[in-house]
Amino acid sequence: DVLNTKGNTFEDFYLKRELLMGIFEAGFEKPSPIQEEAIPVALAGRDILARAKNGTGKTAAFIIPTLQKIKPKVNKIQALILVPTRELALQTSQVCKTLGKHLGIEAMVTTGGTSLRDDIMRLKEPVHILVGTPGRVLDLASRKLADLSETPLFIMDEADKMLSREFVTIIEQILLYFPKDRQSLLFSATFPLAVKSFMDKHLTKPYEINLMDELTLRGITQYYAFVEEKQKLHCLNTLFSKLQINQSIIFCNSTNRVELLAKKITELGYSCYFSHARMPQSARNKVFHEFRQGKVRNLVCSDLLTRGIDIQAVNVVINFDFPKTAETYLHRIGRSGRFGHLGLAINLINWNDRFNLYKIEQELSTEIQPIPATIDKSLY
Ligand code: ADP
Ligand code: MG
Repeated sequence: DVLNTKGNTFEDFYLKRELLMGIFEAGFEKPSPIQEEAIPVALAGRDILARAKNGTGKTAAFIIPTLQKIKPKVNKIQALILVPTRELALQTSQVCKTLGKHLGIEAMVTTGGTSLRDDIMRLKEPVHILVGTPGRVLDLASRKLADLSETPLFIMDEADKMLSREFVTIIEQILLYFPKDRQSLLFSATFPLAVKSFMDKHLTKPYEINLMDELTLRGITQYYAFVEEKQKLHCLNTLFSKLQINQSIIFCNSTNRVELLAKKITELGYSCYFSHARMPQSARNKVFHEFRQGKVRNLVCSDLLTRGIDIQAVNVVINFDFPKTAETYLHRIGRSGRFGHLGLAINLINWNDRFNLYKIEQELSTEIQPIPATIDKSLY
């Protein structure tokens, strides 16, 4: 499976020899984490939505696969790279030139505020990669000066900045000139809703990479319910019947309780997997993978699933057992790179948990409210 190929060296990507030379001459010894994740997926032809901090090597993460895919002998624009500013366009084309030094691939920069006539002249020469800002690129495409009708690769850097209201309609117009089966790569440092809706509309089954690991409770409505231990299962059953769960994760504090609860939930007639630290890693991976694919609706687990909540389809997290620390709470409930999706967190609290509830609320400066009789569906 090409998506699981984790290259530790640039050689692992089976790149053209001339490209490898360019990479090494640029002084790159090993791929950065974002490159390690993005390059094989991009080479495999998939759409990508990638999020990583500044300075982590995102530029080469999309330029290396671009250079690999381009056929220098074909005199056509084979990739468009959209960036928000002229400075970034120049810098990006410089990276194309440096890494592609031995490939005979031509990159052209086109941005507003420069002579259109110069661009027209330049377009008479071969251009394999067009790097530009949206307004000028649309100008060239709509005047049929730049032909994107056979351009297989669309790339947008700094997608968060690019998808402001003023730009998004221009970008959507540019996309109309592309072939339908193009590959799209989006890179960004943050993911506002604008990026999420663009992704839903214009990307095809994007492979999402998120290397930002800060967790946030924003967009998550948090409730607690006081429940005696003996009443917890009954309470859970009620929640299942009342809530519109897309997928849920239910946390317990021990592996025994995970297995027991999963069994009880199955007996209640709900589809459910479980995962805990005493299971072999391979079994845990399988469960997680199938849950991610949506094969079952509910997953009961202990605290091994820290990153797991990034599963987009999970709209409800239930702390069947309330966690002991704020950190654990944040890892269970908080999400990273969830692109503003909403979620619901429900905490079953017994008498002993009440001080902890207050303490965690304080530490995370967040609000966990008593559960209302009906929960507004628009909250999750
Ligand atoms: P980002 O777009 O994520 O902010 P850049 O693509 O601008 O980051 O890269 C930041 C710096 O890291 C650049 O100077 C670039 O040359 C360098 N760089 C990128 N990839 C590597 C690598 N694999 N090894 C060494 N340096 C790298
Ligand atoms: Mg960058």
